[in-house]
Amino acid sequence: MRLRLADGRELIDGMSSWWCAIHGYRHPVLDQAVREQLGRMAHVMFGGLTHEGGVRLAERLLELAPAGLGAVFFADSGSVSVEVAIKMSLQYQRACGHGERTRLLTVRGGYHGDTFGAMAVCDPVGGMHKMFTGVLAEHVFAERPPDGFEAGLDDGWAEHVRELAARHSDELAAIILEPVVQGAGGMRFHSPECVALLRTLCDEHGLLLVLDEIATGFGRTGALFACEHAGVAPDVMCVGKALTGGYMTLAATLCTRAVADAISAGEGGGLMHGPTFMANPLACAVAHASLGLLEEGAGFVERVRAIELGLRGGLEQARELAGVADVRVLGAIGVVQLEHEVDLARATSAALQQGVWLRPFRDLIYAMPPYTIEPDELAMVTEAMLAAARAA
Ligand SMILES: *Cc1c(COP(=O)(O)O)cnc(C)c1O
Repeated sequence: MRLRLADGRELIDGMSSWWCAIHGYRHPVLDQAVREQLGRMAHVMFGGLTHEGGVRLAERLLELAPAGLGAVFFADSGSVSVEVAIKMSLQYQRACGHGERTRLLTVRGGYHGDTFGAMAVCDPVGGMHKMFTGVLAEHVFAERPPDGFEAGLDDGWAEHVRELAARHSDELAAIILEPVVQGAGGMRFHSPECVALLRTLCDEHGLLLVLDEIATGFGRTGALFACEHAGVAPDVMCVGKALTGGYMTLAATLCTRAVADAISAGEGGGLMHGPTFMANPLACAVAHASLGLLEEGAGFVERVRAIELGLRGGLEQARELAGVADVRVLGAIGVVQLEHEVDLARATSAALQQGVWLRPFRDLIYAMPPYTIEPDELAMVTEAMLAAARAA
C-alpha cells in the first residue's frame, strides 16, 4: 500500500497507481507468479503459436465475463484494446455487408485512451480533439448521461439518444461507452438504466455495444464488471488497468462468438491486428494470479463494500467545505469535486502532509485505493482528501 520517497517518507497510495494496483505492491502471490513464469519462459510470439498461460487466462476471463462473450484478443495496453474494439466493430459490420457503417456513437465526457482511434471517442471538449482536428475520425456524440448512479432514466436524455441513434443508424457500427463510471473524463457516475437503454438501441439498429471496462472492471464499482449493475452484456468489452494487479501492461478485448466468427469468415480471414507482445506470458501469469486473489477469502465484494462505507463516512464532512461542488462515492471510488480548478501544488502537498499520495486533476480530488487497504489507512486517505480540498 505504501510508497517510500527518496527522503524516507512513507505515503499511502490513494491512487493504486492509476487504478491498477488493486492488491497493493509487492504482493507475495503476484511476485511468485511472475518468478515462476520467468523460470519457464519470459516471452514467445502469440501468432501461429499459443501457450498455456495465454489460453488459461483467456478461459478464466471468459468464465468471469458477462454472458455471451466467447472470444478474447490480448492487447498490450488499454488504448490498444480500444483500437481493437473499434476495428472489430468495423470489420464485423463489413463482414455483414455493411462496409458503410464506419462511425461510432458515444457520449460526451468519456475517456478511452490516447491513441488516435481511442482519442476520437474521448470527450470532444475535455479531450484532445482541438489539437488534432482534421486527423481524428468524426464520430457522433450524445449529451452526457445525467449525473447519478441512482438517477434512473431521464426521459429527455433517452429521447435525445434514441433520436441520434435512429438518425445515424445507417452509418453507425457501434456504440462505445464506459458503463456507469466515466473515469479520466471527469469521474462522473450515471445510472445503469442509461447503459441498458444503449443496449436496446444497439439491438434495434444492428449496432455492436462496446463497453470500456478498463477503469471499472475487476470490482472497482462493487460488481466484477460495471455492466452487471445494468444487467446487460456487451458485444465487445475492453479490460486493462487492474487486469494484472498493476504488475505489467496487459489488456484484452473480449467479444461474442458471433462477432469473432463473422470477422473470421470475412475478408482477410481474421482480425487485422497483431501486437508483437500479444499475450506476453509474464503478464498472463500475473493476471491469472491477480484474478485468483480477487476471489480469495471473503472476495472483493466485501472489501469494496467496506471501502465504499469508509469513503462515504470519511468524505461526508467535505460537503460542508467552502468551494466544494459535489461529493460522490461508488464502490472503491471517492470523489470530491470543487467549484474551481484544483491548485495542484497546494492540494498535493496538503495530502503529502497527511502521509497520502493523491493526484488531483481539473476540479477533482479523488481516491481509488487498493482493495487491501485497512480501515485506519482509508481514514488517512479521506482525511488527506479533506485537507487537499481545504488547501485547494
Ligand atoms: C486508462 C483507460 C484507458 C487507456 O488505457 P491505457 O492502458 O492507459 O492505454 C482506456 N479507457 C479507460 C476507461 C481508461 O480508464
